[in-house]
Amino acid sequence: MACAIVWFRNDLRLDDNPALRAALAGGYLPVPVYIHAPQEEAPWAPGAASDAWRHRSLAALDAALRARGSRLRLFHGPTLPALQSLVAISGAEAVFWNRRYEPAVERRDATIKRTLRRQGVRAESFNGALLLEPWELATRQGDPYRVFTPFWNAAQAALRPPRTWDAPARFDPLPDDADVPEGVSLAGLDLAPPRSWDEGFWRRFTPGEAGARAALQRFLDQALTGYATRRDRPDLDGTSRLSPHLHFGEISVVRVLAALEASTAPAEDIAKFRAELGWREFGHHLLHHFPDTPARNLDRRFDAFPWARPDPRALDAWRHGRTGIPIVDAGMRELWATGWMHNRVRMLVASYLTKHLRLHWEHGARWFWDTLVDADLANNTQGWQWSAGTGADAAPYFRVFNPVTQAARFDPEGAYIARWLPELAALPVPLRFAPWERPGLLARAAPRYPRRPLVDPAAGRVAALDAWRRSR
Ligand SMILES: Cc1cc2nc3c(=O)[nH]c(=O)nc-3n(C[C@H](O)[C@H](O)[C@H](O)COP(=O)(O)OP(=O)(O)OC[C@H]3O[C@@H](n4cnc5c(N)ncnc54)[C@H](O)[C@@H]3O)c2cc1C
Repeated sequence: MACAIVWFRNDLRLDDNPALRAALAGGYLPVPVYIHAPQEEAPWAPGAASDAWRHRSLAALDAALRARGSRLRLFHGPTLPALQSLVAISGAEAVFWNRRYEPAVERRDATIKRTLRRQGVRAESFNGALLLEPWELATRQGDPYRVFTPFWNAAQAALRPPRTWDAPARFDPLPDDADVPEGVSLAGLDLAPPRSWDEGFWRRFTPGEAGARAALQRFLDQALTGYATRRDRPDLDGTSRLSPHLHFGEISVVRVLAALEASTAPAEDIAKFRAELGWREFGHHLLHHFPDTPARNLDRRFDAFPWARPDPRALDAWRHGRTGIPIVDAGMRELWATGWMHNRVRMLVASYLTKHLRLHWEHGARWFWDTLVDADLANNTQGWQWSAGTGADAAPYFRVFNPVTQAARFDPEGAYIARWLPELAALPVPLRFAPWERPGLLARAAPRYPRRPLVDPAAGRVAALDAWRRSR
């Protein structure tokens, strides 16, 4: 019986895995491999938090494969020669993988597919990440969508009923171990951080397919009902926290959709959550059609915008939660401690960076890239360009979030602020949103917290609008 290489990438699961399914359905002996080649993803090679996650996720995938009598073999890139050598040694007739949509990865994968096919190897890729391929939808004029609502309406009309697939309990028969190179150890990939700065991540998340399933179940049981209203509250556990699991493909979006369809939660909560999955689809649609947007404004009119010259001290204060604006600082500290930040707070920290500090959104996108466990080129680019007002369907630049009123509205008891900035917990609630208004009280309660905001919310707003008018 011939074998097939199943090349795992950001699809670190067994169920609903079209590449694995194709290998088994084709009657091949599956050889699961992971090839580490971060340099091939430049200039967006995975950041430190992503590496820490991937380390654990690969371990979980290997354990799941071993429970089925198989195992995951790990190799160093470059990818094409690694695959060619695996094919030559194992005699594999086919290589199967699930598609990714980052521009550098799309280019690399196209070369690999072409080369392997030219050499007589059956090379095939599948959609394992999205509800619809980014090229499946177009406007009536045949253009890519640039506005979410018509995109999502068209997507919903085109969606097929979600069909899940459970991997078999054992892969029988298995390739003879002697026919497949051993590969390197997980430690040999050097993904785990040397000092355990990631400890806080694992109090909140469990990487791997079982952890993803548990997160989905928790969300269905505890947070889907009420999602439409609670999702904007960072002080509540009101969202799914599925983003890193979806990014690494530890659960399929098809399975999430199937669970929603089976749910008896209120229709408005289900519709809202589906729409968030729609934003993920939209981000991938945009990245595929506008592949230079991780570094360039989608709205080219912003190419002439007078961004401030990067001030290392301001950037450092923003990164480490020392701007003096509590909701911004709380978010940046949540990010540092857990590798994740609530969506509403992501919008507020991004708005403060790009509008009040008037720093180019790429500074923020880069920091998020290194520190988020869900760092995802499609979603991160979309999130930053949307927040900066330079993207598709953007909140126009002149709509500047007020971080004080936003905090009072979405963290009404100041509990989120107190959790991540315990030094402000002693302040009465309204002061937690704008502590500089009572400098004496602030100095006594939190002597090390900034006395004044880096940029005052009102003055920063005026300056941002002025810059925007000048650039028109
Ligand atoms: C500046 C900025 C940067 C961002 N960077 C990323 C990123 O790198 N990776 C990432 O996955 N998301 C990013 N987002 C989107 C969003 O903040 C996260 O997806 C969300 O907070 C994840 O939490 P959750 O899983 O609990 O979301 P839920 O509310 O439970 O939503 C379910 C799923 O829908 C998807 N989703 C939700 N909101 C969005 C959105 N606005 N755009 C795209 N997909 C969405 C995610 O896959 C998420 O897991 C960013 C948003 C902003 C404003």
